[in-house]
Amino acid sequence: MEAARRLDLDGHDVVLMEQLDRLGGTLRFASLAYPENGLLLEWLQGRLKASKVDVKVGVRVDVELLHKLKPDAILIATGATRRKPPIPGAHLPHVFGGDDLKALILGGKKGLKDKVGWGTRVVTTLGAATGLSDNVTFIREATRHWMPFGKHVTIIGGDLVGLELAEFLTDRDRVVTVIDEAPQFGAGLQYVRRSQMIEDLGLHHVELAAGASGIQIQKDAVTFVDQSGSKQSRRADHVILAKGATGDLTLAYELQSQGFDVHTAGDCRGVGYIEGAIRGAAEAATAISGGVLAHMPKESRR
Ligand SMILES: Cc1cc2nc3c(=O)[nH]c(=O)nc-3n(C[C@H](O)[C@H](O)[C@H](O)COP(=O)(O)OP(=O)(O)OC[C@H]3O[C@@H](n4cnc5c(N)ncnc54)[C@H](O)[C@@H]3O)c2cc1C
Repeated sequence: MEAARRLDLDGHDVVLMEQLDRLGGTLRFASLAYPENGLLLEWLQGRLKASKVDVKVGVRVDVELLHKLKPDAILIATGATRRKPPIPGAHLPHVFGGDDLKALILGGKKGLKDKVGWGTRVVTTLGAATGLSDNVTFIREATRHWMPFGKHVTIIGGDLVGLELAEFLTDRDRVVTVIDEAPQFGAGLQYVRRSQMIEDLGLHHVELAAGASGIQIQKDAVTFVDQSGSKQSRRADHVILAKGATGDLTLAYELQSQGFDVHTAGDCRGVGYIEGAIRGAAEAATAISGGVLAHMPKESRR
C-alpha cells in the first residue's frame, strides 16, 4: 500500500493486487492487537482512495498473470510465511497458528474446520460476508464480549506478536501464559515500549516463562522445563503459536529468473515489522522511479 502510494505520487500507472478481499494484510491483524497500528492502516486506505492506484482485490498474483500484464517493474510485498514450529503437539485441534488466528478473528477462510465448531465458523463467515470483519474497531469491541477461546490460553513465542496477543487476550479476561525458548521477551520492540509492555503484562498477572526448553503441547496443558531446570505444566484450553514467521521470496525469484524487473519489500524479505515494511516500500519505490537501485536480495541470501 505504501509503495503503491509513493509510486502513484511519482507519476507511475500503478496496479495493486491483493489475494484477499480487502487491503491491509497483517497490519489489519496488528491493528486489532494494538489499536495505534490502525491509524496507519486508515491513513494508507485514505491515501489510496484519493490516488489513481488501480486496486484489485481477490486476485492472487502468479507468474502467468504477470506475463499477461507485462509490467515494466514488479514490487513483491507478499509478507511472511507462517509455518508451525516443530513443537510436539502443534498439530492438535486446540492449537492455533498465525494463519488460523487471522482466519478466526478477521473472517478469512483457511484452517478453521478442525479448530472451531460450526457456530464460530458461521459467525466468522457472516462477518466476512457482511463486511463486519472489515471493521477492526467493531471486532475489537465484539471480542470483549465473545471469543472462541477458553479461560486458559498459552502463547508460545514471546516476541512483539506474542506479547501483543497476550495483552489482547488478558484484556478479554483470559488467563495467559507466554512461553519462549529465548532468554528475553520482546524481540522487535523498542526499549521503552518493551519495558512498558512487560510491566503491564506483569500487572495483569500474565506469566512470562523465558528460557524454556522441552516445550510440549498436551491435550489440555503445555509442559516445559523452566530456566532453573524444573519441569512445569500450565493448563491450556487453547494454545497459540506466535512464532515461525519467516521471509519467502519464492515468487520474486521465479519472476526474476524469467526476466522481470523485480523489487521486494516487507516481511517477504524476513520479518521486519511495520517499520521495516514502510522503509522497504520507500526504498523500492525510489529504485523503481530511478533512484538508488537494487532492492532485490542476492540469490545466495535465500
Ligand atoms: C498480532 C500481530 C501484531 C503485530 N503488531 C505489530 C506492531 O505493533 N508493530 C509492528 O511493527 N509490527 C507488528 N506486527 C507485524 C506487522 O504487522 C508485519 O510485520 C507487517 O504488517 C508486514 O507487512 P507486509 O506488507 O510485509 O506483509 P503483510 O502485511 O503480510 O502483507 C502481505 C499481503 O500480500 C498478500 N499476498 C500474498 N501473496 C499474494 C499473492 N500471490 N497475490 C496477491 N496477494 C498476495 C497477502 O494476502 C497480504 O495481504 C504484528 C503482527 C501480528 C500478527
